[in-house]
Amino acid sequence: MKIPYLGLQKIHDPIRKELDAAYNRVMDREWFIDGQEDHAFEEAFAAYCGVSYCVGVGNGLDALRLILMAAGIGEGDEVLVPANTFIASVLAISYVGATPVLVDPDPETALITPEKAAEKITDRTRAVMVVHLYGRVADMDGFGRLCRERNLVLVEDTAQAHGADWKGKKAGTFGIAGGFSFYPGKNLGALGDAGAVVTDDPKIAEVVRSLGNYGSSAKYHHDLVGVNSRLDEFQAAFLAAKLPYLDAWTAERRGIAEKYARGIHHPKIRLLREDPGNVFHIFPVFCNERDALRDYLESAGIHTLIHYPISVHLQKAYAPLGYHRGDFPAAEMLAETELSLPLYPGMTDDEIGYMIDTLNRF
Ligand SMILES: *Cc1c(COP(=O)(O)O)cnc(C)c1O
Repeated sequence: MKIPYLGLQKIHDPIRKELDAAYNRVMDREWFIDGQEDHAFEEAFAAYCGVSYCVGVGNGLDALRLILMAAGIGEGDEVLVPANTFIASVLAISYVGATPVLVDPDPETALITPEKAAEKITDRTRAVMVVHLYGRVADMDGFGRLCRERNLVLVEDTAQAHGADWKGKKAGTFGIAGGFSFYPGKNLGALGDAGAVVTDDPKIAEVVRSLGNYGSSAKYHHDLVGVNSRLDEFQAAFLAAKLPYLDAWTAERRGIAEKYARGIHHPKIRLLREDPGNVFHIFPVFCNERDALRDYLESAGIHTLIHYPISVHLQKAYAPLGYHRGDFPAAEMLAETELSLPLYPGMTDDEIGYMIDTLNRF
């Protein structure tokens, strides 16, 4: 049996007519930037998240850096961020001229905790960027309290957690704003690059929209030094066509994850602690013989990925931060042992059974 890591075809084939209609609508209208598709999707996604505002942007990295810019974070400021995140969370902080300060995650959840973050606070710390890694939601009661007590801006990297929740409240709605990516492989994916900022703060929404549009709110009047980062009409139309299916896809992901969690029993394979709000963007397992496990699965036709093989503090780009091997033991352990299993809507019971049997025979 052949099992790809991600089966986008299985998501797109059943809704191909709706995607074609979205394409044709935009093509017929011949309006490609800042039009009614963009506005309609923004309204629908804000409602989905349960916030007042959504601003479409070019990609997830831009969503995060525009949030930080709008919050006035820059030169001389420190921003706390997990050591085991995807590089974009950290790049957003660098982009605005602030200094990323890495926090080691809890090895049982792969997420940072308010306690670990608190240890890294200095008198220059201005913000915490919480990352809901793998689709798991961090302790938002704890981070809310920490940020209130220490007067810090709370930013959420929700790029992997569309529709995830903490006690019923959607990820991305706890802090000043949430930054989403709609990269094609994300739980809600465009057919190209796309992203969004969600917030309840009208000022943040207005400034993010202006920053993403050359710093202008009225054409050719530039009040801010902005960038060009907008959600185009094609991607907005595709996203609007896919959004109504997101909850059903999430339910499917949760069903597959539950079967994995119940079925995978191997003394050498470890799973993360359960989290009821998880939307399973990624299903990670951890194994000291990770590379051998990966080769074994590959030879059985099962394609896996690693999220992520190198912790941020060991990336060449971040050598100037002055961190060393051993500084973030949990992040390093996760990077050395993590393996992401295929998990996508449309996976059949046969495929899920084959996955479990193959893993248990390792
Ligand atoms: C995908 C991702 C991003 C960046 O999103 P892009 O749309 O690719 O720029 C940021 N943070 C995390 C955690 C991601 O997984």
